[in-house]
Amino acid sequence: MASRVTFIGAGNMASAIIGGMIDNGHPATAITATSPSDAFLAPLHERYGIRTNTDNASAVQGADVVVLAVKPQVMREVCEGLSDTLQRLRPLIVSVAAGIDAETLDQWLGGGLPLIRCMPNTPSLVGAGASGLFANAEVNAEQRAQATQLLEAVGLVEWVEEEALLDAVTAVSGSGPAYFFLMFEAMEEAGVKLGLPAETARRLAMQTALGAARMAQQSDQPPAQLKRNVMSPGGTTERAVEHLEQAGLRDIMRDAMDACAARAREMA
Ligand code: NAD
Repeated sequence: MASRVTFIGAGNMASAIIGGMIDNGHPATAITATSPSDAFLAPLHERYGIRTNTDNASAVQGADVVVLAVKPQVMREVCEGLSDTLQRLRPLIVSVAAGIDAETLDQWLGGGLPLIRCMPNTPSLVGAGASGLFANAEVNAEQRAQATQLLEAVGLVEWVEEEALLDAVTAVSGSGPAYFFLMFEAMEEAGVKLGLPAETARRLAMQTALGAARMAQQSDQPPAQLKRNVMSPGGTTERAVEHLEQAGLRDIMRDAMDACAARAREMA
């Protein structure tokens, strides 16, 4: 039987996961979403036929999995408001909130519940996300499988066995989309300087990133080899790649990602 999943919060992230679950054939009647505001709930009910509720405590009754998908600043209030009910029902808790660690959530929920902390990224909103997941010691194998299935509805899932590694996940995939957006800006500007219309340069850059990612995902060869495959000696690509290496692209990425992970640690 499909697991019964209740989303506390019915915004961007909850809607994206719900849409992915429905596309994967999860029965709409096994999904509930809550929000204090009907403005969030009505479109979800109309579009997917899921259950909706403005009362969090009644919405979690009968749930196998409760996904906490509210903004970090209201998380404490939401958790404390649900702790008595959740302590009685003991469902799996999955938090998608940035910057709140598992121990803090556990305390707010009264302690001892099976809890998974997830670091998703914004491409989840278009079904091409990448999420890092960490489970506390209360989570069993079946619950891990439930969480994997849930987050795979919006993209790739990778588990980490130490919570601190979610800061590294933040540096790679959580903040990663912005690195590529910056690259698109730079490639567009350089393409324009070489005479292309901006829109043409932008479309070419984006499609090239998509193609490179798809090729790398489908290939048995590591990226270093794929790179060498397009670098014929004395050719155009070799000239560009040599320039990027000499300009210190690897050091720049390492420093940027160190700074990102350090900021994630500060915020936790
Ligand atoms: P959002 O503002 O779109 O949605 C928040 C939802 O919570 C709304 O439906 C709101 O009505 C509801 N809500 C507010 N108070 C509530 C309460 N007391 N009880 C129940 N529902 C309540 O936010 P979002 O972008 O979906 O972000 C949700 C979480 O996902 C955040 O913690 C954020 O850190 C995390 N996240 C989001 C993204 C993203 O791409 N949007 C990426 C990574 C992580």
